[in-house]
Amino acid sequence: SLGGQTVLEARDVAVHYGGIKAVDGLNISLPAGKIAGIVGPNGSGKSTLLAALTRLVPLTRGELILGGRPYHHKAPHVVARHGVSRTFQTVRLLADRTIRENIALATDVRRVDKPPTRKQLEEQIDVAIERTGLGSLQKRRPDEVSYGVQRKVEIARAIANNPTVLLLDEPTAGMNRQERNQISELMVKLRQDGLTQLLIEHDVQMMVDTCDYLYAMNFGVLIAEGEPESVIKDAAVQEAYLGT
Ligand code: ADP
Ligand code: MG
Repeated sequence: SLGGQTVLEARDVAVHYGGIKAVDGLNISLPAGKIAGIVGPNGSGKSTLLAALTRLVPLTRGELILGGRPYHHKAPHVVARHGVSRTFQTVRLLADRTIRENIALATDVRRVDKPPTRKQLEEQIDVAIERTGLGSLQKRRPDEVSYGVQRKVEIARAIANNPTVLLLDEPTAGMNRQERNQISELMVKLRQDGLTQLLIEHDVQMMVDTCDYLYAMNFGVLIAEGEPESVIKDAAVQEAYLGT
């Protein structure tokens, strides 16, 4: 690992769906204020791992630790209240609400460690909107904007509650190159503010440019980890992706 303080850790985590071993004994740790990444072919268990980290699926075995405390017996809303925030692989916005209202919904999660005032919440929403470049669109509804913009709303929503850990599941899928670069830049900015992040993406260049540490998965297990450039060049990773 990178050393330093670990914010979130998964130890020997497994998630089986009946006979399908979607995740089968994984160890990862998220270093404070760094961006860790996960790459792996479709079906390798990346989204299931994120679901496990946020307690949205039951663990078959293993331990989850947040800020030094086990949390694998806690409910998802409790994990959220402790500042673990995520985006989903698919857009989940309310069609009959404005973009601003969709983003504001996230702040309904009552934070246990740093409960903000109403005024602070409005400021947080403003910051999330500003950072994702949605200022001029905040009064529109999701169906009035492009898919790439809808994905930005998802990200704005995930950061509006001032998370301590941000987990992003293919946030730039469906975005054009310019939008992808904007998201990359946003993550770097959030890192400057000290936010611990985990990014799942297929875009190898983006992963190398953005991540401090990279994990590669295949068939529910880690096949490589370490410095991003060397993980991408790893023979097992190349074979998993390209069959070479
Ligand atoms: P990735 O995000 O890397 O594409 P997933 O975590 O979505 O991979 O899926 C990993 C494996 O688990 C796949 O074989 C997938 O079909 C299976 N899987 C995912 N979710 C479920 C579920 N709710 N029920 C049964 N099988 C699932
Ligand atoms: Mg996935």
